[in-house]
Amino acid sequence: MDSRLCFSDFRKHRILHFGRATLFHDFTILETKNVTAELGDDTFSVEIKPKKGWIPFSEKCFPECIFCMNQYLKLETGRITKSSSYCPKNLFSGDEMKVKKSILSLIDNPQNNLRIFKNGIIVYDENKDSSEVEDVMRQIFDMDNVKLEMLLKSFCEVIFKCLTRRSEPLPQCKAKLFCKWDQTILGDSFPSGCILERILSVQMLDVEGTKYYNKVLTDKISEWGYVKNLIDELDSKMCVKCALLTLTNSENLRRKDLIFAPYLVAAVANDCSLMITMRKVRKEKLNKIEKEEMIKCDLGYFVVNIGVFDLYPKPMSTIRKHEMRNTKLLHVYDTSRNSEKLKIN
Ligand SMILES: [Zn+2]
Ligand SMILES: [Zn+2]
Repeated sequence: MDSRLCFSDFRKHRILHFGRATLFHDFTILETKNVTAELGDDTFSVEIKPKKGWIPFSEKCFPECIFCMNQYLKLETGRITKSSSYCPKNLFSGDEMKVKKSILSLIDNPQNNLRIFKNGIIVYDENKDSSEVEDVMRQIFDMDNVKLEMLLKSFCEVIFKCLTRRSEPLPQCKAKLFCKWDQTILGDSFPSGCILERILSVQMLDVEGTKYYNKVLTDKISEWGYVKNLIDELDSKMCVKCALLTLTNSENLRRKDLIFAPYLVAAVANDCSLMITMRKVRKEKLNKIEKEEMIKCDLGYFVVNIGVFDLYPKPMSTIRKHEMRNTKLLHVYDTSRNSEKLKIN
């Protein structure tokens, strides 16, 4: 299949507005109109599917996070031959060392969580040999005489800075209930408004976890009705996060299917992808403003853009599907663990 086609699909983006959790526009094409610096010829895009970094209440007793438990299932069903050392909890920790280690884990074993494009064409993903990453790094940094270790270190530096880059503050929320709660929980793990914080704070809409929602779900509730009801009922004076949680916690909730909306919206953020698009600056005589707007690493400056895509609404049946998946994951995890123990003995 022509990878250009896949790339254009990515641009059918959606934007989520959730107060502090408003996600960025899709930026697969780099805007360079206002950049006066001389840029390299090629644009590189790094797509990361971060998965779920938030552990809701009923999942705290799980032995590992959903992503890590799913590795056992993927191994058992032959979808992968080697399990990943990536864990979304580390990426969403905001901790510099852990985030950088997560990026290296994704490079080592990309599965469907990392892809690198050059001018819209895939140059690195799970179908490539990991030795091919060296050539890709050389092209990104436009450098021949630097060791791979140094290239990877600078790559992680650029990606870390993009993921934790502070962004413009969003319009103030009048309620400050649940968006305030997020701030209390997350503390100062992230610079305000960075992309990791925005995605995580949408994931945090699911406070209870699948088990709770699955228990209260009845078969009478329609697949998609909640989407329209949500648009009709939301109070525009609050950020969407506060509006959504105030609405669903209200005793006079008229439309019962809205109880499930926080879970289903969080599920969208659990499956979204982010795209970092970057182009190296050739000439480094930059003025102060230009330098501030760019991302700097040991091997130079980059013009970057960050986007989020794959924000499609999920049907009500997602809840049943997730509950079945979790049961299966726990079962496979136990069996794999027991057979490992047998091998050791
Ligand atoms: Zn994990
Ligand atoms: Zn709010």
